Amino acid sequence: MLTRLVIATHNRKKAGEMVHILSERFPALERLTLTDFPGSPEPEETGDTYAENAKIKADSAAAFTGEWSLADDAGLEIDALGGAPGVKSKRFEGEESSFDHKISRVLEMLADVPDAGRGARFRCFVALASPGPVATTIFDAACEGMIAHSRSGAGGFGYDPIFYLPELGCTMADLTPEQKHAVSHRGKVLRRFGDYLASI
Ligand code: IMP
Repeated sequence: MLTRLVIATHNRKKAGEMVHILSERFPALERLTLTDFPGSPEPEETGDTYAENAKIKADSAAAFTGEWSLADDAGLEIDALGGAPGVKSKRFEGEESSFDHKISRVLEMLADVPDAGRGARFRCFVALASPGPVATTIFDAACEGMIAHSRSGAGGFGYDPIFYLPELGCTMADLTPEQKHAVSHRGKVLRRFGDYLASI
């Protein structure tokens, strides 16, 4: 059984979500983040797929830290935009642009799209990399929803204020952290990872 795990993300909110979800199920697992490893590199996400990017980040962390490392890569796929921004969600409208701006652009681009055409999903891939000769295992999950007509909520991060969950009647940003993790792409994929972890 693996006893220590590096959560390999430089995104503080994401790391917080991952630590939170894993600590509930594996209280004895020692969870480290990249802030515990000063100078840890932030590799370029040069892959064409979520799986490749998650693997790049997990492998880089495992090589630098010498520890089992877990990284995710996620994105928002909007049907009316042919699945964009998808794997480029972080870079949509430029990596340095704020989420307020990215969200405004999505709302503008979908201004004339009726509800029936506003389908979207968050997709998340997680890669677990072993130390030593690196071997990587990949898990994935998605969360289906719609692009709202306007922002709502102050929770979560990124595109959450415009990701509407029809079954719950609110956006992802309207949810408490526990509610978000129960339905989110990241919650789902980490439960899959957790099943694997419990089995090895
Ligand atoms: P990456 O996985 O760090 O490459 O980033 C993917 C991008 O997808 C993030 O910068 C966010 O824009 C978006 N994203 C990923 N997960 C979430 C989420 O749970 N809520 C809102 N936006 C997200």
